[in-house]
Amino acid sequence: MMNRPALEAHPQPATQPRQPPDIESDWALFLDLDGTLLDLAPTPTSVVVPDGLVDVLRRLHHRLHGAVAIVTGRPLADIDQLLAPLVLPVAGNHGASARLPDGTQQALAPVQPLPPGWVTQAQAACAQWPGTIVEPKPYSLALHYRLAPEHADNVFNLLRCFAAERADDYEILTAHYAYELRPRHADKGMAIERLMALAPFHGRVPVFIGDDVTDESGRAAARRLGGIGLDVGESFSGSAAHVRQWLAKAVGDQDT
Ligand SMILES: [Mg+2]
Repeated sequence: MMNRPALEAHPQPATQPRQPPDIESDWALFLDLDGTLLDLAPTPTSVVVPDGLVDVLRRLHHRLHGAVAIVTGRPLADIDQLLAPLVLPVAGNHGASARLPDGTQQALAPVQPLPPGWVTQAQAACAQWPGTIVEPKPYSLALHYRLAPEHADNVFNLLRCFAAERADDYEILTAHYAYELRPRHADKGMAIERLMALAPFHGRVPVFIGDDVTDESGRAAARRLGGIGLDVGESFSGSAAHVRQWLAKAVGDQDT
């Protein structure tokens, strides 16, 4: 059995704040969703959008003149469903696609749909491992084991077999109680760089917040562009509720 990669710590450079500074009006905010704005849930479909969050995001979007985007591993449609009626710029599918500030959708990387058969093979395998969950996405495949940690090695090894078939195109990401096979040629950092080239993001200070190792490219891009990359674990005690309180404070709502 292969050793699984350990969850890595990503210490922030000394110049990066550990405590989140107050949100400034010249920022461009890039926000991961699961584990950052929303509490993690046992399954991807059981997340809860807390009362008040959509209104806080709407008011932040107004305060920052539109420079608020969701940057997520989920497909774009998930975000619109979860944050309805709010429609924000989104980079989805780990940066493979985006809805730009003008509303147009665009592929950001030369990715292709998943090879046929992977999803059905994964579903057949995971049926033998109770508690594991297959989450097919347009360009990637996540296998969750939060409800069955004893099967972590099984789901990792299955994805490793798939990745070996297309080693140039796919890599395995380690997430919270999940592994995800995703295209090598897209990441959240690339998506942030693309959005930062466009109004109303261009010329602002990029600030990205994420909770997972999959977010490191986003944090790195924000720093590279002169901004701030924050980790929920380091700067918000690992609590999405603390992120929400920080955002709410910026728009004068202490109770959200
Ligand atoms: Mg996350």
